[in-house]
Amino acid sequence: MTTWIVTTTSEVANLFDQAKALGGPVTAVLVGLTGSFPAATTNITFNLGPDTPTEAAAPAVAAHVTATDGDVVLLPDLPETRVIAGAIAARLNAPVLPHTSVLAPGQYAVERYGGILQETVSTEAPTIVLTEGGAQEELSSEAADTAEPSPHYDAHVIETNVASEARTDLAHASRIVALGRGFAQRSDLDLGRKLAAAIGASVACSRPLTEGEQWMPKDSYVGISGQKVSPDLYIAVGISGELQHTLGVRDARIVVAINSDPTAAMFDQADYGIVGDLYQVLPELTAELNPS
Ligand SMILES: Cc1cc2nc3c(=O)[nH]c(=O)nc-3n(C[C@H](O)[C@H](O)[C@H](O)COP(=O)(O)OP(=O)(O)OC[C@H]3O[C@@H](n4cnc5c(N)ncnc54)[C@H](O)[C@@H]3O)c2cc1C
Repeated sequence: MTTWIVTTTSEVANLFDQAKALGGPVTAVLVGLTGSFPAATTNITFNLGPDTPTEAAAPAVAAHVTATDGDVVLLPDLPETRVIAGAIAARLNAPVLPHTSVLAPGQYAVERYGGILQETVSTEAPTIVLTEGGAQEELSSEAADTAEPSPHYDAHVIETNVASEARTDLAHASRIVALGRGFAQRSDLDLGRKLAAAIGASVACSRPLTEGEQWMPKDSYVGISGQKVSPDLYIAVGISGELQHTLGVRDARIVVAINSDPTAAMFDQADYGIVGDLYQVLPELTAELNPS
């Protein structure tokens, strides 16, 4: 049984831990990364040109993942690796299991409904697993075998549009101020941003602010279909606390809710709550925390 690790990033310590627990050889496929993982038995590198999007390499990468029955293919759960996972699955006619960890050879724990339920799946077929990559895995400068990108791919980035708001690395943020539909208009979000600046927090939001109003970039919403976060402090401002949102906050250490509705479900998830109008609470709180 071989464990394949296919990755575009070196933040895959969790995948190597799972491979180690399974035993057996590990083949690492590095897409757009140089060097090799000492913990892998075999390393294969795909060099991408500077203007080649990772996704364009998916068919070529898939052609080199020759997993057979009993093998598992692990990928960190990222937008570009999801494309690669799909290509591998199509080629091998194999299932993709998202939000999954490997329990034993051929046995997988799959999170359902944002982790409320866990289903155990058993299969002998080669299986593609998308899971949290985890911390940095040691990447040595030793060159790996270089795979020829075949079939050839000819997609190129011809234009880059940077979102007006800088991308926030919410997964690693230790403090987050999350903004919801309690804000009446886009310019009012500055009240939340000022609070975030006062306490050195990243700014996130609920889904309606990205997909409904398009006030914030899509990668800044938290929840079951957005980002899962695990900060020390999560301040939810004007967020009702629907399950689809709070499932993304389960691993936060301290949750604070600010909401004018005392019956808002967000208070059920909160360690501390302020019942009040955000237009009054935020300026006072920001001034208190940042008197200068
Ligand atoms: C399949 C599916 C997946 C979804 N995935 C996600 C997801 O990943 N993430 C996500 O966030 N949502 C998700 N949703 C949407 C989710 O169900 C909720 O609709 C959404 O989270 C609500 O956002 P909100 O709390 O900002 O808005 P609302 O539910 O409208 O809540 C606004 C809150 O602001 C409060 N408020 C209003 N005015 C003030 C004021 N002046 N001061 C203080 N408080 C005030 C109100 O009392 C209310 O509680 C998903 C939905 C579906 C169907």
